[in-house]
Formats: sequence, structure tokens, C-alpha cells
Amino acid sequence: MKKTLAAAVILTIAVAAVCAFSNRERTYSADIFALDTYISLQIRAGKNGGDILDECENRIKELERLFSHTIDESDISKINRHAGDGTFVPVSRETIEVLTLSKEIYTESDGAFDITVAPLVNLWNVTAENPRVPSDGEIQNIKALICGDDIIIDSAANSVRLRKSGQQISLGASAKGYITDELIRLLKERRITSAILNLGGNTAAVGTKPDGSLWRVGVQSPDDSAELLGVLSVSDKCVITSGDYERYFMQNGTRYHHIIDPKTGYPSQNSLRSVTVIGTNGAVADCLSTACFILGKDKSVPLLEKYGCCAIFCDSDMNTEYVGDVVLEK
Ligand code: AMP
Ligand code: MG
Repeated sequence: MKKTLAAAVILTIAVAAVCAFSNRERTYSADIFALDTYISLQIRAGKNGGDILDECENRIKELERLFSHTIDESDISKINRHAGDGTFVPVSRETIEVLTLSKEIYTESDGAFDITVAPLVNLWNVTAENPRVPSDGEIQNIKALICGDDIIIDSAANSVRLRKSGQQISLGASAKGYITDELIRLLKERRITSAILNLGGNTAAVGTKPDGSLWRVGVQSPDDSAELLGVLSVSDKCVITSGDYERYFMQNGTRYHHIIDPKTGYPSQNSLRSVTVIGTNGAVADCLSTACFILGKDKSVPLLEKYGCCAIFCDSDMNTEYVGDVVLEK
């Protein structure tokens, strides 16, 4: 009897040891191309780490199918196709959420952030093979269509319409941030306490590094992709940058970039080269980085304060100014 008991104890210990060993945490990573950008995910997890990364990839692609204006069956394409015809287009809860936030930031930024800017983005088409500066007449004609107030959201019925024919929306400035939040939520549900996510230069630091220290996130120099303005030490924060160096063309010494000031119809012109927003909500930080890039530092302060975000403003001389409690290690 004693022998049987001893054997059972040994067996239990052996099984527990094998389980503990096989569920030992390690780093899992995935590189994905989606949302027209490179995405890398790195998580610390037990043996289900691969499955969790697959879930993340599926969620990214699912949201891309709702949000992309270049996918015909997306919610956004459907809304755009019905612009001006009076139809309320039924859309997903996620689309309602991202549109509601985008419209709120439109109001709070006094129209600097406006997802109905899409027809102007298309007119400028700065990433075309042979981009050109449109005529002022073309710009003014299309500018007349840009108006965030014309996004009519019926959240009770989960449906949306655009008031005028020719209007279009695109979520280029907010979708990546929203998707980042969805990934963070998914990881937390799976009890992941250490992860670093990078969606086309937008970073989310979940928890801490596996050794318990803060994540270190580099902020790229607008002048040289191999150089850093500095490094931030963060935990549970999104670090999201808008800049004039990602998508642009040069003509006669002027840089025509992809962030359009809806008030002028032209790429925003101030001395800024980039704005990095640091906050806990990725969607908010994404909208704000674009808005603050257009508004400039002084007008951005109330907006950043309202949403509890910090920011780094980098000008054309590579001088940096900060709003909020930012420590950028050089
Ligand atoms: P981001 O890199 O987050 O600043 O987003 C820039 C993208 O948002 C551009 O490539 C455009 O598709 C779109 N966009 C440009 N100007 C604006 C604007 N004023 N408001 C909202 N979205 C914009
Ligand atoms: Mg943005």
C-alpha cells in the first residue's frame, strides 16, 4: 500500500513538472502585412502563444475588411457608395465606434481632424507614381465637399450616411489606433502581461518587459529613418506618430505630404516634421497625432489635456518640444 502511495506521489510530481515545463513562458512573434503596412507582434506567453497570435492576426484582418476604403465590401466602402442618396447604411458596432470617435475629434479639433478629407487625399495622391500639385481650382472644388458634420450616425440602429453626393470617408488616420486597442483588449483577455505591438510605426507597449522593467520605445527622427529622436520608457501606453516623412513627394523644393489641412485643402504647412502622441487609448492617440500635426503645439495643448495624452513635437531643425509629462532619453 505504501509503495502504491509513493508511486502515485512521484507520478503526480512528474506530471506537474512536465506541465510546468511545457507551459513555461517564452516569446512568440508574428510579422504580418495588413492595413497597407508592416505589423509586428511580440508577446510573452505559455504554450498557447501561437494560437493567441493567430487570433490577433484574424482580428486585424477582420477589422481591415470592415474599415478599408479600398475593399469593396467594407462598411466604409458601402457608406461611400451611398453618399448623398439618403440611405442609412447598416454597419458593424466597431465601425460605429471608430466613426463616433473620429467625429468627436473632428469637433474637438475644430475641424483639423476630418475623415471626410478623403476626396482631397485622393486628389493629392502623394504616393502615385507621378504625383503632381493639383490646380487651386481643383482643390477648392473638392474642398467644398469636406465636412465632418455631414457624417450622420444613427448609433441606435447601427447605421450611417453621408449627407452629400461625392463625399467619402477614410480611416487612414484612426483605424490603426482602434485596431491596436482591440489587440490590447484581446491580449488582456488571454492574460498576457508582456507584449509589444507595432502597427506601421505605431507602437503599443503592453505591461512590462518579461524581466519586469519598462518597455523602451524609440521615436524615429523625421530626418533619417535610421536615427532616433530619443527613447521613451513606458508601460501600458500607445506611442503614435504622424509625420511628413512617411508619404510625400518633392516639387521645386517643397514637400507635399499626406496630412491635409481641411481648412486650406493643402498639406499642412507649419514648421513641424512630426508629432508623437503618448496615451493609454490607441484610437484617441492616433486621431490626436494627426490633429496635432495640423494644429501645431500651442493649439494642441487643450486637446491633449482633454484626452489625458502627452506629446512630442519635432520641428524642421529637429528641435523637440513636449506637452505633458514626457521624458525622452537622448
Ligand atoms: P496618420 O499617419 O495617422 O497621421 O494618418 C494620415 C492619413 O490620414 C493620411 O494618409 C490620409 O489618408 C488621412 N488624412 C490626411 N489628412 C487628414 C485629416 N486632416 N484628418 C483625418 N485624416 C486625414
Ligand atoms: Mg493618426
